[in-house]
Order: sequence, then C-alpha cells, then structure tokens
Amino acid sequence: MYIPRFIYIFNPSFGAQNRKMNSSLTQSVPQLVSNLPIESKDHDLIQKVIHLASQERKIGVEILELLYEIEKRKAYADLGYDGLYSFCIHELRYSDSQAYRRITAMRAMHELPELKEKIKKGELTVTTVSQVQTHLRQNKRKGIHPNRAEKLDLFKTMQNLSSHEVEKTLQTLNGEEVTVLLTIKLEPEMQKAWEEIRNRSAHATHGQPTEILNMLMQEWLKKHQPKTEPEKTDAKTKAETDDQQLASVSNDTRAKTEVTTLLKKGAVRQLTGSLRARKRPSRHIPAQTRRSVLARDKNQCTNCGSEFALQIEHKKPYAKKGDHSCENLKALCRSCNLRAGIREFGTSKMRRS
Ligand SMILES: [Zn+2]
Repeated sequence: MYIPRFIYIFNPSFGAQNRKMNSSLTQSVPQLVSNLPIESKDHDLIQKVIHLASQERKIGVEILELLYEIEKRKAYADLGYDGLYSFCIHELRYSDSQAYRRITAMRAMHELPELKEKIKKGELTVTTVSQVQTHLRQNKRKGIHPNRAEKLDLFKTMQNLSSHEVEKTLQTLNGEEVTVLLTIKLEPEMQKAWEEIRNRSAHATHGQPTEILNMLMQEWLKKHQPKTEPEKTDAKTKAETDDQQLASVSNDTRAKTEVTTLLKKGAVRQLTGSLRARKRPSRHIPAQTRRSVLARDKNQCTNCGSEFALQIEHKKPYAKKGDHSCENLKALCRSCNLRAGIREFGTSKMRRS
C-alpha cells in the first residue's frame, strides 16, 4: 500500500507526468498548484522543488565565479566599497555569515576548480567548502601546508556530510575535543524561567549554565524516550448488535465509503451480511502483537527510520478487511502513517471538498 518516496519520484510509469513536468517547471507555484489534477500534484511539486534546488546550486556557483572576477578587478571600488565583503553585505544584501561563507568558498573554488562540479551536484555545499577552507587557513597559520591532492582528499571526506558533521570531523582532525558552542538569546519570559531554574537547582548545578542545560536535557530525554504511541481503542467497535455496529461503523471514516457504496447499491442484506462477516472483536491490536511487530521492525518507522511517535499500521487496511496478523502490520511514524492514509483514502476526500 505504501510506496517508498524514491520509487514514487523516479518510477518510469510516471513517464506521462514527466513529459508534462517540463511545462510544469516553468510555472509559478500558485499556477502549478491550481492547474494540476490532484493525482499529479505531489509528483510535480517535488519535481519542481528538486529542479529549483538544482538551479539554485548552479546559480550559487556562478555567483562564486563572478565574485572572484569582481575581487580580481576590485570592481567594487567604483561603487565606493572598500572590499568584497562590504560589497556583498550592502550591494548583494547578504548577511555577515552568508558573505563570509561565499567569499571563503570562492577562494577555495578558485584554487581547486574540481570543487565547482561537486557544489553543482550538491555533494558539497557552499557552507561545507567554507568550513574546510577556514580549517585549511588556520592550519596554514600554524605552518601546516597540505598539498593539492591532500586538500582535495579532505574535501572529498566531507562530501554529503551535514555542516554539523563537518564541524565535528574538523575538530577531531585538529585534535580538539569535539564541542558545540551555543549562543542563545533569551526572551524576557525565558530569562525569568532561566533565573528561577538556576536558583532552584543551585544545589545540584551550582548555577553553571552547562550543568543547568545538561540537567534539562537529561530530563527531557528521560521524558521523551522513544516509545510507542498507544493506538486509540475504538470501544464502539466492540458493540454487540448489528444496529450498534452499523452506527459505529458509520463513524469509522474508512468503513464509511464501503457502507455508502453498499447502500447505494440498495444491498441492505449484503450490508448486514458484510457486517456479520466483519464481526471481528475490535480494531484494537492486541498488546502482544504490537510488541512483536515493534520488535521485528526494530522500534523504527519502516519508511523513514524515525523512532518517535510510532504507530502500528495495517498493510492491507483494517477497513478493507486487513487482519491483525504480524505479516499485515508494520511500524510507521505518525507522519508516514498519515501520508499512507492520505495515499489510501485522501484523494477522493480532497476532491469532495
Ligand atoms: Zn516515518
């Protein structure tokens, strides 16, 4: 029932949509959303944003190339700027850190043109290149001069890492203890809370910010240990009589469609029969089964690997007579479960509204 997202994007059966996609890429987002048939919306939206992100990377590289030329010619001088940095801030409206990252990345890219393709492909981000370049410059001051191949190797090590991972890797390379420096601006409300926590926890934390934060983090982690969300037990489905069952099933959106269809056909007998046939004790999944499924799925969402807000999902929906056997159940996080529900039942609902 659930289609993994990458198959969804690259599945060749979407060929027809791919052809249409080319025109959709040139449309503005509001145009795109209003013109598309519902079924292809998700696909086109994803294609559009992937396309734009790729364009963004290409433009990013062009900007770095232009910055290099402007720096070489000191072209900013005619506009009254004393350097590339203030040009970037005042003329290009970059923030301090955006300007810094682009200028350092620009220098790295000029020295190692191989980086250009890697940035375009998204293997390295401008931020990563800037982080590594800063590291290399600091080493240079310490008298460490890696050669070209060594530098390229270092960049290669950082490919596809998050900036946080790059930071940690560089700290390790520098023989530094891996630390995270946090600067937090507290709003007045938070200041009050912080002061109170500091006073009341002074015996344990001695008012040390690191100790206080550690205490709060440990408490949060204890409170939010990865665990399963108890599924809502639909007590109504335990009702005895067919009448009660009919009423309760009508409350069940998933079963509603089925009931409506049957009613339309005028097949009241069939309906009663189908309800009898569906006379399973409850849609509640026994605790033992839940535990087995979770253990089998390693307490992770089988789609995205998340360990939070896990729910048990029927592969063949309960409303479509899917049973509570382990084979028909899998662990999904709340988002993936919602998404699965939308894929299974959503489109027709969206149409009606
Ligand atoms: Zn998930």
